[in-house]
Amino acid sequence: MAHRFVIIGGGPAGNQAATYAARLGAKVTMVEREIVGGAAHLLDCIPSKTMIATGGAISFGQRIGGMGLTDASTTVDEDALVRRIGSIRDHMQDDTTQLLQSQGVDIIRGTARFTGPHSVEVDTADGVQQLEFDSALIATGTRPRIPEWCEPDHERILTTRDCYPPKVFPKKVTVIGSGVTGVEFVHMFASFGAEVTLVVSRQHVLPGKDPEAAAILEDDFLSRGVRLLKGARATSIERDPADPENVVVKCDDGRVVESTHAVLAIGSVPNTEMLNLEAAGVISDEGGYIPINHHCVTNQPHIYAAGDVSGKLPLSSVASVQGRKVAEHAMGLHTVEHRHLDYDKAASAIFTEPEIADVGLAEAEAFALGRKIRVTKVPFATTPKALINNDPRGFVKIVSDPATGVVLGGSIVGQHAAELISVIALAVTANLTVTDIVESLLVHPALAEALSQAAE
Ligand SMILES: Cc1cc2nc3c(=O)[nH]c(=O)nc-3n(C[C@H](O)[C@H](O)[C@H](O)COP(=O)(O)OP(=O)(O)OC[C@H]3O[C@@H](n4cnc5c(N)ncnc54)[C@H](O)[C@@H]3O)c2cc1C
Repeated sequence: MAHRFVIIGGGPAGNQAATYAARLGAKVTMVEREIVGGAAHLLDCIPSKTMIATGGAISFGQRIGGMGLTDASTTVDEDALVRRIGSIRDHMQDDTTQLLQSQGVDIIRGTARFTGPHSVEVDTADGVQQLEFDSALIATGTRPRIPEWCEPDHERILTTRDCYPPKVFPKKVTVIGSGVTGVEFVHMFASFGAEVTLVVSRQHVLPGKDPEAAAILEDDFLSRGVRLLKGARATSIERDPADPENVVVKCDDGRVVESTHAVLAIGSVPNTEMLNLEAAGVISDEGGYIPINHHCVTNQPHIYAAGDVSGKLPLSSVASVQGRKVAEHAMGLHTVEHRHLDYDKAASAIFTEPEIADVGLAEAEAFALGRKIRVTKVPFATTPKALINNDPRGFVKIVSDPATGVVLGGSIVGQHAAELISVIALAVTANLTVTDIVESLLVHPALAEALSQAAE
Protein backbone atom coordinates (compact mmCIF):
# COMPACT_ATOMS: atom_id res chain seq x y z
CA MET A 1 0.00 0.00 0.00
CA ALA A 2 1.26 3.51 -0.84
CA HIS A 3 2.57 5.65 2.02
CA ARG A 4 -0.36 7.74 3.32
CA PHE A 5 0.82 11.32 3.81
CA VAL A 6 -1.56 13.91 5.26
CA ILE A 7 -0.60 17.57 5.01
CA ILE A 8 -2.38 20.23 7.03
CA GLY A 9 -2.03 23.62 5.34
CA GLY A 10 -1.69 24.44 1.64
CA GLY A 11 0.87 27.26 1.76
CA PRO A 12 4.38 27.09 0.28
CA ALA A 13 5.47 24.50 2.88
CA GLY A 14 2.40 22.28 2.42
CA ASN A 15 2.12 22.42 -1.32
CA GLN A 16 5.82 21.81 -1.98
CA ALA A 17 5.77 18.81 0.37
CA ALA A 18 2.59 17.55 -1.32
CA THR A 19 3.94 17.84 -4.86
CA TYR A 20 7.26 16.16 -4.10
CA ALA A 21 5.83 13.40 -1.93
CA ALA A 22 3.27 12.59 -4.63
CA ARG A 23 6.04 12.44 -7.25
CA LEU A 24 7.92 10.06 -4.98
CA GLY A 25 4.92 7.75 -4.84
CA ALA A 26 3.03 8.77 -1.70
CA LYS A 27 -0.76 8.90 -1.48
CA VAL A 28 -1.04 12.55 -0.48
CA THR A 29 -4.05 14.31 1.04
CA MET A 30 -3.75 18.02 1.65
CA VAL A 31 -6.23 19.87 3.88
CA GLU A 32 -6.60 23.63 3.44
CA ARG A 33 -9.17 25.76 5.24
CA GLU A 34 -8.86 29.07 3.42
CA ILE A 35 -6.87 29.36 0.20
CA VAL A 36 -4.76 26.83 -1.70
CA GLY A 37 -1.37 28.49 -2.05
CA GLY A 38 -1.37 29.71 1.56
CA ALA A 39 -3.04 32.47 3.52
CA ALA A 40 0.15 34.34 4.45
CA HIS A 41 1.58 33.71 1.01
CA LEU A 42 -1.37 34.65 -1.21
CA LEU A 43 -3.19 37.09 1.09
CA ASP A 44 -0.14 38.95 2.48
CA CYS A 45 3.18 38.32 0.74
CA ILE A 46 2.10 38.41 -2.92
CA PRO A 47 -0.45 41.28 -2.58
CA SER A 48 2.10 43.35 -0.66
CA LYS A 49 4.68 42.88 -3.39
CA THR A 50 2.04 43.69 -6.04
CA MET A 51 1.18 46.97 -4.28
CA ILE A 52 4.86 47.77 -3.83
CA ALA A 53 5.50 47.16 -7.55
CA THR A 54 2.86 49.76 -8.40
CA GLY A 55 4.39 52.09 -5.78
CA GLY A 56 7.75 51.55 -7.51
CA ALA A 57 6.23 52.50 -10.86
CA ILE A 58 4.90 55.70 -9.27
CA SER A 59 8.29 56.68 -7.89
CA PHE A 60 9.96 55.79 -11.17
CA GLY A 61 7.46 58.10 -12.85
CA GLN A 62 8.45 60.83 -10.40
CA ARG A 63 12.16 60.37 -11.25
CA ILE A 64 11.90 60.33 -15.04
CA GLY A 65 12.75 64.02 -15.34
CA GLY A 66 16.39 62.95 -15.23
CA MET A 67 15.92 60.45 -18.07
CA GLY A 68 15.02 62.77 -20.87
CA LEU A 69 11.27 62.49 -20.44
CA THR A 70 8.90 65.21 -19.41
CA ASP A 71 5.73 63.45 -18.34
CA ALA A 72 4.43 60.15 -16.96
CA SER A 73 1.16 59.33 -15.31
CA THR A 74 1.51 58.64 -11.62
CA THR A 75 -2.22 58.70 -10.98
CA VAL A 76 -3.39 55.52 -9.30
CA ASP A 77 -6.54 53.80 -10.55
CA GLU A 78 -7.40 52.21 -7.21
CA ASP A 79 -10.09 49.89 -8.59
CA ALA A 80 -7.74 48.63 -11.31
CA LEU A 81 -5.04 47.96 -8.74
CA VAL A 82 -7.43 46.04 -6.49
CA ARG A 83 -8.50 43.96 -9.52
CA ARG A 84 -4.86 43.31 -10.39
CA ILE A 85 -4.12 42.06 -6.86
CA GLY A 86 -7.15 39.74 -7.06
CA SER A 87 -6.23 38.42 -10.48
CA ILE A 88 -2.62 37.62 -9.50
CA ARG A 89 -3.88 35.86 -6.35
CA ASP A 90 -6.48 33.86 -8.32
CA HIS A 91 -3.96 32.97 -11.01
CA MET A 92 -1.48 31.67 -8.42
CA GLN A 93 -4.19 29.77 -6.54
CA ASP A 94 -5.39 28.11 -9.77
CA ASP A 95 -1.84 27.25 -10.86
CA THR A 96 -1.03 25.68 -7.49
CA THR A 97 -4.28 23.71 -7.42
CA GLN A 98 -3.73 22.40 -10.95
CA LEU A 99 -0.15 21.39 -10.20
CA LEU A 100 -1.21 19.51 -7.07
CA GLN A 101 -4.08 17.79 -8.85
CA SER A 102 -1.86 16.86 -11.79
CA GLN A 103 0.40 15.03 -9.33
CA GLY A 104 -2.62 13.16 -7.90
CA VAL A 105 -2.80 15.11 -4.62
CA ASP A 106 -6.24 14.93 -3.04
CA ILE A 107 -7.20 18.41 -1.79
CA ILE A 108 -9.82 18.66 0.96
CA ARG A 109 -11.24 22.10 1.75
CA GLY A 110 -11.74 22.24 5.50
CA THR A 111 -10.16 22.60 8.93
CA ALA A 112 -8.11 19.71 10.27
CA ARG A 113 -7.35 18.62 13.84
CA PHE A 114 -5.61 15.56 15.21
CA THR A 115 -7.68 12.82 16.79
CA GLY A 116 -4.80 10.44 17.48
CA PRO A 117 -1.15 9.71 16.64
CA HIS A 118 -2.13 8.50 13.15
CA SER A 119 -5.44 10.23 12.50
CA VAL A 120 -7.04 13.61 11.84
CA GLU A 121 -10.59 14.76 11.34
CA VAL A 122 -11.55 17.51 8.94
CA ASP A 123 -14.52 19.85 9.27
CA THR A 124 -15.74 20.43 5.72
CA ALA A 125 -18.81 22.13 4.30
CA ASP A 126 -20.28 18.62 3.83
CA GLY A 127 -19.55 17.32 7.31
CA VAL A 128 -16.68 15.71 9.17
CA GLN A 129 -14.18 13.54 7.31
CA GLN A 130 -11.76 11.11 9.03
CA LEU A 131 -8.25 10.49 7.66
CA GLU A 132 -5.57 7.98 8.68
CA PHE A 133 -1.90 8.63 7.94
CA ASP A 134 1.54 7.04 8.05
CA SER A 135 3.21 10.47 8.05
CA ALA A 136 1.76 13.93 8.55
CA LEU A 137 3.01 17.46 8.01
CA ILE A 138 1.85 20.43 10.05
CA ALA A 139 2.19 23.46 7.78
CA THR A 140 -0.51 25.70 9.22
CA GLY A 141 1.41 29.00 9.13
CA THR A 142 0.84 32.03 11.31
CA ARG A 143 -1.51 34.98 11.61
CA PRO A 144 -0.86 38.59 12.66
CA ARG A 145 -0.11 39.09 16.36
CA ILE A 146 -2.62 41.27 18.16
CA PRO A 147 -1.34 42.78 21.41
CA GLU A 148 -3.44 42.83 24.56
CA TRP A 149 -3.48 46.66 24.55
CA CYS A 150 -5.28 47.05 21.25
CA GLU A 151 -8.38 45.68 19.59
CA PRO A 152 -8.35 46.04 15.81
CA ASP A 153 -11.74 47.02 14.38
CA HIS A 154 -10.48 45.98 10.92
CA GLU A 155 -11.79 49.25 9.46
CA ARG A 156 -9.35 51.85 10.72
CA ILE A 157 -7.35 49.92 13.29
CA LEU A 158 -5.87 47.28 11.05
CA THR A 159 -3.71 44.19 11.10
CA THR A 160 -1.43 43.62 8.13
CA ARG A 161 -3.94 41.03 6.81
CA ASP A 162 -6.68 43.72 6.66
CA CYS A 163 -4.67 45.73 4.16
CA TYR A 164 -4.97 43.33 1.21
CA PRO A 165 -6.74 43.82 -1.03
CA PRO A 166 -7.05 47.40 0.22
CA LYS A 167 -10.59 48.52 1.01
CA VAL A 168 -9.29 52.07 1.19
CA PHE A 169 -6.01 53.78 0.38
CA PRO A 170 -5.38 55.65 3.64
CA LYS A 171 -4.36 59.28 3.36
CA LYS A 172 -2.88 59.55 6.85
CA VAL A 173 -1.64 56.40 8.51
CA THR A 174 0.40 55.34 11.54
CA VAL A 175 2.39 52.10 11.29
CA ILE A 176 3.37 50.37 14.52
CA GLY A 177 6.46 48.19 14.18
CA SER A 178 9.69 48.95 12.34
CA GLY A 179 10.78 45.44 11.37
CA VAL A 180 10.71 44.16 7.79
CA THR A 181 6.91 44.15 7.48
CA GLY A 182 6.50 47.56 9.12
CA VAL A 183 9.00 49.35 6.87
CA GLU A 184 7.52 47.73 3.76
CA PHE A 185 4.12 49.10 4.77
CA VAL A 186 5.60 52.56 5.36
CA HIS A 187 7.24 52.47 1.95
CA MET A 188 4.04 51.28 0.29
CA PHE A 189 1.74 53.87 1.90
CA ALA A 190 4.26 56.67 1.26
CA SER A 191 4.51 55.62 -2.43
CA PHE A 192 0.76 56.05 -2.70
CA GLY A 193 1.02 59.58 -1.34
CA ALA A 194 -0.12 58.98 2.25
CA GLU A 195 1.14 60.98 5.18
CA VAL A 196 2.88 58.29 7.24
CA THR A 197 4.14 58.08 10.83
CA LEU A 198 6.24 55.11 11.91
CA VAL A 199 6.42 54.19 15.59
CA VAL A 200 9.93 52.80 16.09
CA SER A 201 10.48 51.19 19.48
CA ARG A 202 14.30 51.46 19.20
CA GLN A 203 16.60 54.20 17.93
CA HIS A 204 16.70 52.80 14.39
CA VAL A 205 14.44 50.92 12.00
CA LEU A 206 15.18 47.31 11.05
CA PRO A 207 16.80 45.98 14.23
CA GLY A 208 19.22 43.17 13.43
CA LYS A 209 19.85 44.33 9.86
CA ASP A 210 22.92 46.10 8.47
CA PRO A 211 22.90 49.55 10.20
CA GLU A 212 24.20 51.22 7.01
CA ALA A 213 21.25 49.81 5.09
CA ALA A 214 18.83 50.95 7.81
CA ALA A 215 20.33 54.45 7.72
CA ILE A 216 19.84 54.72 3.93
CA LEU A 217 16.24 53.61 4.35
CA GLU A 218 15.62 56.15 7.12
CA ASP A 219 17.03 58.90 4.86
CA ASP A 220 14.68 57.82 2.10
CA PHE A 221 11.71 57.87 4.50
CA LEU A 222 12.63 61.33 5.81
CA SER A 223 13.08 62.66 2.27
CA ARG A 224 9.54 61.51 1.52
CA GLY A 225 8.14 63.24 4.61
CA VAL A 226 7.67 60.11 6.73
CA ARG A 227 7.65 60.97 10.43
CA LEU A 228 9.79 58.61 12.53
CA LEU A 229 8.78 58.41 16.18
CA LYS A 230 11.91 56.80 17.59
CA GLY A 231 12.29 55.20 21.02
CA ALA A 232 8.51 55.01 21.43
CA ARG A 233 6.33 52.01 22.20
CA ALA A 234 2.64 52.20 21.35
CA THR A 235 0.51 51.49 24.42
CA SER A 236 -2.98 52.05 23.05
CA ILE A 237 -4.74 52.56 19.74
CA GLU A 238 -8.33 53.79 19.79
CA ARG A 239 -10.94 55.43 17.62
CA ASP A 240 -11.58 59.00 18.73
CA PRO A 241 -15.17 59.06 20.14
CA ALA A 242 -15.51 62.71 19.08
CA ASP A 243 -14.36 62.05 15.50
CA PRO A 244 -14.98 58.56 14.07
CA GLU A 245 -12.46 59.17 11.29
CA ASN A 246 -9.66 59.81 13.74
CA VAL A 247 -7.46 57.07 15.20
CA VAL A 248 -5.37 57.97 18.24
CA VAL A 249 -2.12 56.13 18.97
CA LYS A 250 -0.65 56.76 22.42
CA CYS A 251 2.98 55.92 23.23
CA ASP A 252 4.73 55.07 26.48
CA ASP A 253 6.73 58.33 26.43
CA GLY A 254 3.55 60.43 26.32
CA ARG A 255 3.64 61.16 22.59
CA VAL A 256 0.33 60.90 20.75
CA VAL A 257 -0.20 60.43 17.01
CA GLU A 258 -3.49 61.05 15.23
CA SER A 259 -4.26 59.61 11.82
CA THR A 260 -7.14 58.19 9.82
CA HIS A 261 -5.78 54.62 10.05
CA ALA A 262 -3.29 52.63 12.12
CA VAL A 263 -1.63 49.37 11.07
CA LEU A 264 -0.17 46.85 13.51
CA ALA A 265 2.97 45.23 12.11
CA ILE A 266 4.33 43.64 15.27
CA GLY A 267 4.87 40.04 14.28
CA SER A 268 2.75 36.94 14.12
CA VAL A 269 1.54 33.95 16.13
CA PRO A 270 1.40 30.32 14.99
CA ASN A 271 -1.82 28.59 13.98
CA THR A 272 -1.50 25.64 16.34
CA GLU A 273 -3.98 26.06 19.18
CA MET A 274 -6.89 24.48 17.28
CA LEU A 275 -4.91 21.46 16.04
CA ASN A 276 -5.39 19.30 19.13
CA LEU A 277 -1.68 18.50 19.09
CA GLU A 278 -2.00 16.55 22.35
CA ALA A 279 -3.95 13.80 20.58
CA ALA A 280 -0.95 13.22 18.32
CA GLY A 281 1.56 13.69 21.13
CA VAL A 282 3.21 16.63 19.35
CA ILE A 283 4.70 19.27 21.59
CA SER A 284 4.81 22.99 20.92
CA ASP A 285 6.92 25.62 22.66
CA GLU A 286 5.49 28.31 24.92
CA GLY A 287 4.85 30.59 21.94
CA GLY A 288 2.88 27.82 20.22
CA TYR A 289 5.55 27.11 17.56
CA ILE A 290 6.46 23.47 16.89
CA PRO A 291 10.12 22.60 17.49
CA ILE A 292 11.73 20.53 14.73
CA ASN A 293 15.07 18.88 14.05
CA HIS A 294 17.17 19.37 10.90
CA HIS A 295 14.83 17.06 8.95
CA CYS A 296 11.78 19.11 10.10
CA VAL A 297 10.73 16.15 12.30
CA THR A 298 8.78 17.06 15.46
CA ASN A 299 9.13 15.11 18.70
CA GLN A 300 7.00 12.44 16.95
CA PRO A 301 9.17 10.64 14.36
CA HIS A 302 6.36 10.36 11.79
CA ILE A 303 5.04 13.92 12.16
CA TYR A 304 6.76 16.91 10.57
CA ALA A 305 6.34 20.68 10.87
CA ALA A 306 7.46 23.16 8.23
CA GLY A 307 6.98 26.77 7.23
CA ASP A 308 6.23 29.62 9.60
CA VAL A 309 4.68 27.30 12.20
CA SER A 310 8.11 25.74 12.78
CA GLY A 311 9.40 29.04 14.19
CA LYS A 312 12.42 29.11 11.88
CA LEU A 313 12.71 31.87 9.28
CA PRO A 314 9.26 33.19 8.32
CA LEU A 315 9.88 33.31 4.58
CA SER A 316 8.02 31.68 1.70
CA SER A 317 11.33 30.63 0.19
CA VAL A 318 12.37 28.81 3.37
CA ALA A 319 8.91 27.22 3.77
CA SER A 320 9.09 25.81 0.23
CA VAL A 321 12.52 24.26 0.67
CA GLN A 322 11.51 22.83 4.06
CA GLY A 323 8.45 21.29 2.39
CA ARG A 324 10.61 19.59 -0.23
CA LYS A 325 13.00 18.29 2.43
CA VAL A 326 10.06 16.89 4.40
CA ALA A 327 8.81 14.99 1.36
CA GLU A 328 12.25 13.49 0.73
CA HIS A 329 12.64 12.46 4.36
CA ALA A 330 9.13 11.02 4.70
CA MET A 331 9.72 8.96 1.55
CA GLY A 332 13.07 7.64 2.79
CA LEU A 333 15.35 9.69 0.53
CA HIS A 334 17.37 11.33 3.31
CA THR A 335 20.50 9.51 2.27
CA VAL A 336 24.08 10.74 2.06
CA GLU A 337 23.27 13.37 -0.52
CA HIS A 338 20.46 14.83 1.64
CA ARG A 339 21.83 18.26 2.56
CA HIS A 340 20.61 19.77 5.81
CA LEU A 341 19.02 23.17 5.57
CA ASP A 342 21.27 25.88 6.89
CA TYR A 343 18.95 28.69 7.95
CA ASP A 344 21.94 30.99 8.48
CA LYS A 345 22.48 30.92 4.73
CA ALA A 346 18.97 32.00 3.72
CA ALA A 347 18.80 35.12 1.58
CA SER A 348 16.13 37.65 2.43
CA ALA A 349 15.00 40.96 1.05
CA ILE A 350 13.10 44.02 2.11
CA PHE A 351 11.07 45.48 -0.71
CA THR A 352 11.51 49.14 0.07
CA GLU A 353 13.12 51.84 -2.01
CA PRO A 354 15.95 51.25 -2.32
CA GLU A 355 15.60 47.49 -1.86
CA ILE A 356 17.67 45.87 0.89
CA ALA A 357 18.85 42.27 0.72
CA ASP A 358 21.25 40.18 2.73
CA VAL A 359 22.55 36.66 3.17
CA GLY A 360 24.91 34.76 5.45
CA LEU A 361 27.25 36.29 7.97
CA ALA A 362 26.68 39.99 8.68
CA GLU A 363 29.49 42.37 9.54
CA ALA A 364 28.11 43.19 13.00
CA GLU A 365 27.53 39.50 13.75
CA ALA A 366 31.15 38.66 12.83
CA PHE A 367 32.46 41.39 15.13
CA ALA A 368 30.22 40.15 17.94
CA LEU A 369 31.61 36.63 17.43
CA GLY A 370 35.18 37.98 17.32
CA ARG A 371 35.58 36.38 13.92
CA LYS A 372 38.19 37.74 11.49
CA ILE A 373 36.56 38.86 8.25
CA ARG A 374 37.30 40.92 5.19
CA VAL A 375 34.58 43.40 4.24
CA THR A 376 34.56 45.09 0.86
CA LYS A 377 31.98 47.65 -0.11
CA VAL A 378 31.32 49.22 -3.51
CA PRO A 379 28.72 51.93 -4.14
CA PHE A 380 26.43 51.39 -7.13
CA ALA A 381 27.33 54.91 -8.23
CA THR A 382 30.59 53.43 -9.61
CA THR A 383 28.68 51.32 -12.16
CA PRO A 384 27.58 52.78 -15.49
CA LYS A 385 24.25 50.94 -15.23
CA ALA A 386 23.24 52.79 -12.05
CA LEU A 387 23.87 56.09 -13.82
CA ILE A 388 21.98 54.92 -16.92
CA ASN A 389 19.08 53.92 -14.66
CA ASN A 390 19.22 57.36 -13.00
CA ASP A 391 19.38 55.71 -9.58
CA PRO A 392 22.89 55.53 -8.09
CA ARG A 393 21.70 54.87 -4.53
CA GLY A 394 23.11 52.07 -2.42
CA PHE A 395 26.00 49.64 -2.34
CA VAL A 396 27.17 46.02 -2.47
CA LYS A 397 29.01 44.67 0.54
CA ILE A 398 30.74 41.27 0.57
CA VAL A 399 31.96 39.56 3.73
CA SER A 400 34.66 36.95 3.14
CA ASP A 401 37.22 34.90 4.99
CA PRO A 402 40.55 36.80 4.78
CA ALA A 403 42.58 33.57 4.78
CA THR A 404 40.70 31.55 2.16
CA GLY A 405 38.65 34.12 0.28
CA VAL A 406 35.49 32.04 0.87
CA VAL A 407 32.40 34.22 0.67
CA LEU A 408 30.63 34.22 4.06
CA GLY A 409 27.86 36.74 3.45
CA GLY A 410 26.87 40.03 2.02
CA SER A 411 24.33 42.78 1.84
CA ILE A 412 23.05 44.85 -1.02
CA VAL A 413 21.11 48.10 -0.92
CA GLY A 414 19.80 49.49 -4.18
CA GLN A 415 17.79 48.72 -7.28
CA HIS A 416 17.15 45.00 -7.82
CA ALA A 417 18.97 44.08 -4.59
CA ALA A 418 16.53 41.16 -4.13
CA GLU A 419 17.65 39.67 -7.46
CA LEU A 420 21.35 40.47 -7.18
CA ILE A 421 21.72 38.89 -3.73
CA SER A 422 21.21 35.48 -5.43
CA VAL A 423 24.81 35.60 -6.65
CA ILE A 424 26.17 36.02 -3.13
CA ALA A 425 23.66 33.45 -1.79
CA LEU A 426 24.92 30.87 -4.27
CA ALA A 427 28.53 31.68 -3.35
CA VAL A 428 27.74 31.31 0.37
CA THR A 429 25.91 27.98 -0.10
CA ALA A 430 28.49 26.51 -2.47
CA ASN A 431 31.52 27.82 -0.51
CA LEU A 432 32.71 29.80 -3.51
CA THR A 433 35.50 32.34 -3.13
CA VAL A 434 35.69 36.00 -4.03
CA THR A 435 37.96 34.94 -6.91
CA ASP A 436 35.13 32.79 -8.30
CA ILE A 437 32.98 35.91 -8.46
CA VAL A 438 35.73 38.11 -9.92
CA GLU A 439 36.48 35.53 -12.63
CA SER A 440 32.83 35.11 -13.64
CA LEU A 441 32.27 36.83 -16.96
CA LEU A 442 29.32 39.06 -16.14
CA VAL A 443 27.23 41.30 -18.36
CA HIS A 444 28.11 44.91 -19.08
CA PRO A 445 26.55 47.31 -18.39
CA ALA A 446 24.81 45.71 -15.40
CA LEU A 447 24.37 46.45 -11.72
CA ALA A 448 26.02 43.06 -11.09
CA GLU A 449 29.33 44.65 -12.00
CA ALA A 450 29.32 46.13 -8.49
CA LEU A 451 29.44 42.51 -7.23
CA SER A 452 32.64 41.82 -9.18
CA GLN A 453 34.20 45.04 -7.94
CA ALA A 454 33.26 44.25 -4.33
CA ALA A 455 34.78 40.79 -4.69
CA GLU A 456 38.15 42.15 -5.93
C1 LIG B 1 2.82 41.23 4.89
C2 LIG B 1 3.70 40.05 4.62
C3 LIG B 1 4.64 40.11 3.60
C4 LIG B 1 5.49 39.02 3.36
N1 LIG B 1 6.41 39.13 2.36
C5 LIG B 1 7.26 38.09 2.13
C6 LIG B 1 8.26 38.19 1.12
O1 LIG B 1 8.40 39.22 0.46
N2 LIG B 1 9.05 37.13 0.90
C7 LIG B 1 8.94 35.97 1.62
O2 LIG B 1 9.70 35.01 1.36
N3 LIG B 1 8.01 35.84 2.58
C8 LIG B 1 7.17 36.88 2.86
N4 LIG B 1 6.23 36.79 3.84
C9 LIG B 1 6.18 35.54 4.65
C10 LIG B 1 5.48 34.43 3.89
O3 LIG B 1 4.20 34.82 3.46
C11 LIG B 1 5.40 33.20 4.79
O4 LIG B 1 6.69 32.91 5.29
C12 LIG B 1 4.88 31.97 4.04
O5 LIG B 1 3.62 32.20 3.49
C13 LIG B 1 4.83 30.79 5.00
O6 LIG B 1 4.30 29.67 4.37
P1 LIG B 1 3.50 28.59 5.20
O7 LIG B 1 3.22 27.48 4.26
O8 LIG B 1 4.22 28.29 6.46
O9 LIG B 1 2.17 29.36 5.67
P2 LIG B 1 0.92 29.97 4.87
O10 LIG B 1 1.32 30.54 3.58
O11 LIG B 1 0.20 30.88 5.80
O12 LIG B 1 -0.01 28.70 4.67
C14 LIG B 1 -0.55 28.01 5.78
C15 LIG B 1 -1.92 27.53 5.44
O13 LIG B 1 -2.43 26.66 6.46
C16 LIG B 1 -3.83 26.80 6.51
N5 LIG B 1 -4.31 26.29 7.79
C17 LIG B 1 -4.04 26.78 9.04
N6 LIG B 1 -4.62 25.98 9.98
C18 LIG B 1 -5.28 25.00 9.30
C19 LIG B 1 -6.07 23.88 9.71
N7 LIG B 1 -6.28 23.60 11.00
N8 LIG B 1 -6.62 23.09 8.75
C20 LIG B 1 -6.40 23.37 7.43
N9 LIG B 1 -5.66 24.40 6.98
C21 LIG B 1 -5.09 25.20 7.91
C22 LIG B 1 -4.02 28.31 6.33
O14 LIG B 1 -5.33 28.60 5.84
C23 LIG B 1 -2.93 28.67 5.33
O15 LIG B 1 -3.42 28.76 4.00
C24 LIG B 1 5.37 37.84 4.13
C25 LIG B 1 4.42 37.76 5.15
C26 LIG B 1 3.60 38.85 5.40
C27 LIG B 1 2.60 38.76 6.52
